[in-house]
Amino acid sequence: MSRTILVYAERRDGLLRRVAFEALGAARRLAGEGGSVHAVLAGSGGAAEDAAALQARGADVVHIADDPTLQDYAPEAYLAVLRAAMDAVRPDALLLGHTAAGRELAPRVAAAYGAGHIADVTAIEPFEDGGDVGFIRPLYAGKAFERRSFLPGHPWVVTVRPNNLPPAEPQDAGGRSGGSVQALTYAPPQLWTAVRGLLRRAGGQLDLAEADVVVSGGRGVRSAAGFEPLQALAAAFGGAVGASRAACDAGYCDYALQIGQTGKVVTPQLYIACGISGAIQHLAGMSQSRTIVAINKDADAPIFSIADYGIVGDLFEVVPLLTSEVLRTN
Ligand code: FAD
Repeated sequence: MSRTILVYAERRDGLLRRVAFEALGAARRLAGEGGSVHAVLAGSGGAAEDAAALQARGADVVHIADDPTLQDYAPEAYLAVLRAAMDAVRPDALLLGHTAAGRELAPRVAAAYGAGHIADVTAIEPFEDGGDVGFIRPLYAGKAFERRSFLPGHPWVVTVRPNNLPPAEPQDAGGRSGGSVQALTYAPPQLWTAVRGLLRRAGGQLDLAEADVVVSGGRGVRSAAGFEPLQALAAAFGGAVGASRAACDAGYCDYALQIGQTGKVVTPQLYIACGISGAIQHLAGMSQSRTIVAINKDADAPIFSIADYGIVGDLFEVVPLLTSEVLRTN
């Protein structure tokens, strides 16, 4: 079966987010032989390079909405862009990253077009000709999964969880000859709020949701200074630091680092839990990580039941050893 798929290629700080390529890879597979993949880029300036990157990885047509009103993210403006792209392309499906913006825009587009909406997809299967496409998504904080499909007759709106689907690669362009770039006709809507400035946290790190390696600390880290060895290990891997809620509540680190049911959901290739007991609310945010390593001095800590590798020991001894080993072998 061939389909027309539209991808919202989200940018942040003027750069395409990795999840845009993951959505593009899914779009290419969903489109099938003979199908077409469109991508929509929104912003104020600098889209040409991103358009080329999307085309090199399999986008047949890139639609660019370039307008000063798109300089900063505003839901009304970005919704207007997506509506203009939906009207221009009339796709079978719209794919977005399950990011803060994607979570905000997807249901609005679905409501505007009477479309079905499946959110937070972590796998898509199968892609056989004419077959039902199953969208896998976690339920009950990751304790179960459901396989959901769309019923015929409506467009699909799907958000994909970052770091789960394989990103589109240059070979996904499959010998296509370039594709085209089109300016999207978009009428800026009346905005009711304006961004007056962005207040950044000091010491900004790699986005937790997109990091391949997350080194996370819990109450066992004991202090803000106790996080330093974890930061060194994360830096050795080129990864990010996360935390349990207990560590945030204790003031050892910022709530922006909290992972879990009421924090961020991460699915890195490698998650290293240091001094974290493994409460169900924490597991909700990390149990889908590819490989989980737990370091805990209590051999009975529940975190070991979901860990692929467990180290029973004092994190202040184990973490520096791991760091020096990673640095030695890199
Ligand atoms: P603890 O449970 O106190 O565990 C500390 C661990 O460190 C222990 O296992 C101990 O053996 C080990 N340890 C101590 N010293 C060392 C050492 N030197 N070396 C190695 N190991 C050591 N929690 C979250 O994380 N994220 C959430 O989003 C979240 N949301 C919640 C929502 C609700 C509604 C509720 C009720 C709770 C939520 N919680 C959340 C809290 C959760 O229930 C736990 O209280 C919390 O996860 C415990 O954090 P912890 O594992 O760091 O601390």
